[in-house]
Amino acid sequence: MRKSIARSYEEHGGLLLGSIQNSDHQIVVNVETYIDPGPSARKSTIALYMDYDYQVALLKVVRSFHPDVHYIGIWHSHHSNGATYLSAEDIRYFQDIVQDDQYKLDNFLALLVTERDFSYPSAFMFYKDRSDYDEIEVNHKVIRDCNFPMEDLLVKLEDLAIVRWK
Ligand SMILES: [Zn+2]
Repeated sequence: MRKSIARSYEEHGGLLLGSIQNSDHQIVVNVETYIDPGPSARKSTIALYMDYDYQVALLKVVRSFHPDVHYIGIWHSHHSNGATYLSAEDIRYFQDIVQDDQYKLDNFLALLVTERDFSYPSAFMFYKDRSDYDEIEVNHKVIRDCNFPMEDLLVKLEDLAIVRWK
């Protein structure tokens, strides 16, 4: 995420893959990796429309090897426009996803990066069957370096797709 923002003056983002465990007292989120916006994504300094067909195709590949890994959310950046909050469009879009019957999990995580130097992204939790959402406290987040087993393959597929579609 840090690298892709550093070299871009447009909004960037991707599908977050990992797991969300929801018990009575806590929600444990584990983000393993993300899928790029895709070769046909439309980007500007104020908007990002991801290439969903491409992302779903890659998601299927990942899940065929790691069925325990799910599409759990979206990250995107406002580093190109400085907005430190989710837009009304963002909120509506995330609500639509988590309420969709095809989305099977009870929670949906939205990470928002607002600064080019990355620091910590803001994190928001959306819920199935609820119209509100929560901002998650920064001090509840743990960021650690780890390598998802398919990371190298994902990077290669993304490079390949960009070469092919351009
Ligand atoms: Zn946004």
